[in-house]
Amino acid sequence: MQLESMYQDIILDHYRNPVGKGELVPFDAEVHHVNPTCGDEITLRVRLSQGVIEEVGHIGQGCSISQASASVMVELVTGRNVTAALEIESAFLDLMQSRGRSVPDEEVLEDAVAFAGVSKYPARVKCALLPWMALKDAVLRVRTEEPTTHDKEK
Ligand code: ZN
Repeated sequence: MQLESMYQDIILDHYRNPVGKGELVPFDAEVHHVNPTCGDEITLRVRLSQGVIEEVGHIGQGCSISQASASVMVELVTGRNVTAALEIESAFLDLMQSRGRSVPDEEVLEDAVAFAGVSKYPARVKCALLPWMALKDAVLRVRTEEPTTHDKEK
């Protein structure tokens, strides 16, 4: 019970003071994802530098779970290379698909462990995953475009 309320505090804190909220300029990729079941929307921009996620910005609207999840995600992935960020994404996906049975690895997921309880509610899982799906989409777009950009520069 105590753990649950501590988790709720983390989610509420991020919801009230979201990290990375706003339009990021300049950016390398922009994606727009929606979660129709809840009405959550996110427009996410990323800027990468030599395979490292320099900055992430997001705008949109939605429930506290989706908004807080975006904020936690920005905190977790900023300054990491794409491979490491996608490893965290995959760990978070595993946690969210565990239906409350998985014990989250706090060293990997940090504040994102707060969403462990959400995994028990299938309807809310999509809310928590929305920003992560958007991030994955965005970084993979930059990655595919990267070689061409570098060729042009040289
Ligand atoms: Zn939602």
